[in-house]
Amino acid sequence: ASPVLQVDNLTVEFPGRRGTLRAVDDISFQIAEGEVLGVVGESGAGKSMTGTAVIGLLEPPGRISGGSVHLEGQRIDNLPHEQMRRIRGDKIGMIFQDPLTSLNPLYTVGFHLTETIRTHTDLSEAQARRRAIELLNEVGIPAPEQRIDQYPHHFSGGMRQRVVIALALSAEPKLVIADEPTTALDVSIQAQIIQLLKRLCRDHGTSVMLITHDMGVIAETADRVAVMYAGRIVEVGPVREVVQNAKHPYTEGLMGAIPKIGGRTEDLVQITGSMPRLSQIPSGCAFHPRCPQAFDRCTQERPELLPVGDSKAACWLHAPEAADAAGGRRG
Ligand code: SF4
Ligand code: MG
Repeated sequence: ASPVLQVDNLTVEFPGRRGTLRAVDDISFQIAEGEVLGVVGESGAGKSMTGTAVIGLLEPPGRISGGSVHLEGQRIDNLPHEQMRRIRGDKIGMIFQDPLTSLNPLYTVGFHLTETIRTHTDLSEAQARRRAIELLNEVGIPAPEQRIDQYPHHFSGGMRQRVVIALALSAEPKLVIADEPTTALDVSIQAQIIQLLKRLCRDHGTSVMLITHDMGVIAETADRVAVMYAGRIVEVGPVREVVQNAKHPYTEGLMGAIPKIGGRTEDLVQITGSMPRLSQIPSGCAFHPRCPQAFDRCTQERPELLPVGDSKAACWLHAPEAADAAGGRRG
């Protein structure tokens, strides 16, 4: 079957007075039907920008300057705004960090849901209301018959995000893009929301692009994971492989930053330094100033994604012709 989402060589640029900044640099990935793709990396890696480009909501002057995006085989990156707006409503559900991005405080929860349901189905008002109550029940809102007539501010942060998940699924989209969906919530309810999202998407056969800085969330949720650094995908593969057998030193660093339950904070391996600014992307491998394993070649030539075991990684340590240089250095 063809993938639900196919992104090929996507490049996003911001023209500015001091030159053009490249926020997303020639990335390609696919999401299969019902699959959860985790997109992980530190802030500034280009994760949200990738999601925003896919849904056609880049803020000018940001623009897609290269590549293509296909949803269920249809090219969508070059559609007129109005058509793209309809595709977002029909086929792509969105969940953001702040639930209030998706909820208008002036309208009841039921209004949000029934409006969306009625736009995308031919259900009557009463049928749409029944469907909305079902959805609220499905996302774990207690007493949905009463709560449906309340306003967003009557809900706690976690309950509000449940409402947003119900809303995102109400049009039965093919794809949900969730950008840091639990980052603003209490740690104690983050796992519940992630499990809920995962279960619902599985039940509805919905594909998910889950954007997060949190490798722990990825490990629990994703089927596959793409690791981003400085606008590029530096490692991609099945979640088990990436988590247990990371190929890229940046991925290893992110793994080290997962606080283990019962583990002491001192055990955390922190990656030193920070994500480069777009105006100052280092030469060669952009990670080289922070990489504990960098060698000469890394500062000069940019590594491309190549198959390594069951994953792909962009790192000279894994390039066959680099084995001698790296082996000598490590050896
Ligand atoms: Fe480190 Fe070099 Fe690999 Fe980049 S290419 S991650 S600098 S070893
Ligand atoms: Mg972000």
